[in-house]
Amino acid sequence: MLIKPRTEPEELLLLRILNTRWNLDPKEASNYLHLEKGYLGEKQFDLLLKDLKGDWLMLNDLLFDCSNTVFQIDSLLISQGTIYLFEVKNYEGDFYVEKDNWYTAAGNEIKNPLLQLKRSESLFRRLIHELGFTFNVEAHLIFINPVFFLYQAPLNLPIIFPPQLTRFFDQLSRKSAEIFGKPFKLAEKLAAIHIKKSQYAKRPSYTYQQIQKGIICKSCGLFLTNDDIKILTCKSCGHKEGVSSAILRSVKEFQILFPSEKVTTNVIYDWCRIMKSKKAIRNTLSGNFKKVGVGRSAHYI
Ligand SMILES: [Zn+2]
Repeated sequence: MLIKPRTEPEELLLLRILNTRWNLDPKEASNYLHLEKGYLGEKQFDLLLKDLKGDWLMLNDLLFDCSNTVFQIDSLLISQGTIYLFEVKNYEGDFYVEKDNWYTAAGNEIKNPLLQLKRSESLFRRLIHELGFTFNVEAHLIFINPVFFLYQAPLNLPIIFPPQLTRFFDQLSRKSAEIFGKPFKLAEKLAAIHIKKSQYAKRPSYTYQQIQKGIICKSCGLFLTNDDIKILTCKSCGHKEGVSSAILRSVKEFQILFPSEKVTTNVIYDWCRIMKSKKAIRNTLSGNFKKVGVGRSAHYI
């Protein structure tokens, strides 16, 4: 049973829009690609979890605060007596381990992902203890990408490598037993204390003037150039989308980029750029948002 689904991280949503509408500097661009890849890996892991047989409570993408220390968990699987904690990595290519240090094939040291796993595991144990629950906690580092390889990996690490995933999930399916009472209470509690807003989200500094206006094609990500009364057709990929849905997507992007700016017909008219008249914008806004104020101070929430 899925108790908490995964949602796209705010930072990823923001960087994805900025990547199309602005020039991210190399560091931000690399952070963006890293987040996009990580999220893709987590979604792939979710697909495997979805096929798991038996009785389980699943919570994905969690952020907790335990004694003023914030930590994040990619996935939790709760059974009657055991909680499985997963950290998912979408690493690609060859890596090697030397003592406690991890390196890329080219010899560049990377953060040891097992340390991150150990930290989350220990904080999570403390958290459920503080909540008054007793469970076994089993933490695993999951490598989801089939072209990942780790040289010199010792035998006893809590790692599931790509060729082991199917077997691991088969074993879990066999371990499943009916759940009742306590796991439901814990899952409910965990979903309730999950921190909704990431404190890590870093906002690059940009201004409205710097950002490219227009409506972005939902399918290929390029800017739309045409203006039609009902349907917008992308000249690059041919994707068709209703005007209202395209405007609504653009409003959401505007709100993510400028959360403190008011949404008005004029603002969105300027933002969408390609619409010849304001009518479609006014109709979309009034049909999907609540209008506050009148005249010049009117805006939508
Ligand atoms: Zn397109």
